[in-house]
Amino acid sequence: MFQVQVERSALGNLEEKGPHERGHPVTMKILVVEDEAKTSAYLAKGLVENGYTVNRAGNGEEGFNMALGGGYDLLILDVMLPGKDGWSILSDLRHSGHRFPILFLTARDAVEDRVRGLESGADDYLVKPFAFVELLARVRSLLRRSPVRPSESLRIADLEIDPIRHKTQRCGQRIDLTPKEFSLLYLLASRSGEVLSRTFLAEQVWDVNFDSDTNVVDVHVRRLRSKMDDPFDRKLVHTVRGVGYVLEDRG
Ligand code: CA
Repeated sequence: MFQVQVERSALGNLEEKGPHERGHPVTMKILVVEDEAKTSAYLAKGLVENGYTVNRAGNGEEGFNMALGGGYDLLILDVMLPGKDGWSILSDLRHSGHRFPILFLTARDAVEDRVRGLESGADDYLVKPFAFVELLARVRSLLRRSPVRPSESLRIADLEIDPIRHKTQRCGQRIDLTPKEFSLLYLLASRSGEVLSRTFLAEQVWDVNFDSDTNVVDVHVRRLRSKMDDPFDRKLVHTVRGVGYVLEDRG
C-alpha cells in the first residue's frame, strides 16, 4: 500500500506525491483540470501511485491560471468545465506560447470534437469513460515524445547546465558534480529567481518528507557552492535567511 503525502505548495494548492519518485531527481509534474471530484481524485491517486507529482484544479479559471503559472510537464484537461471550458483553456494556452503536452478528456465521442481538440493544439485525447491503464499509457507516451523540463539546457549568467549529458560549466570551465548536487543545482536553476525552501528542496531531491532533518540540504548546498560559486567572482546561489535558497544573477 502507498500513502499519499499531502502538502501545501507555494500556490496554496494541494500537491500530492507518492513514494515511487524516490530516486528520481526531478519528478514529472502533472496538472489535472477536472470538475468531477471523483474522476479527479481517481486520476490523481493513480498518477501519484505511478510516481508523478499531481496538482488539481476543479474549475476552468483556476486550471488556466495554474497552467499559466507553469512548472508542469503535462496537462490533463477535461472539456466540459465550469468557468472556462477546455476548448478556450487549450487555445489560450497555445496562444500564450505554452508548449507542454496536453491530453484532452472528452465525454463525447463525436468525431468533430476530436478533430476540434487536435486542431486547437491538444496532443492527444481520451474519450470518457476510459481505463486508467490507457490514460497512463497516453501520459507516458506524451511525456516521452515531448520531454519538457528535464531535457532543457539552462543558462544563467556564465553558468550552463546540460541535463542530457549531465554537464555543468561556468565560463566554459567544466564543473564536476555528484548526481545529488546536479539535481539540486538543476532544480534551483530551473526556477531561477524563485526562493525554494529547504523542505521543498529536500522533498524534490531526496524525497525526504517534512519532519525530517533538512540539514542535508544545507550540507549539499555548501558543497555545491564550493564547486560552482566559490571559485568564481560572480555568486549565483544565495541564502535567504529563514526561508531557503535562490539561484539568480545579481550582476
Ligand atoms: Ca467536466
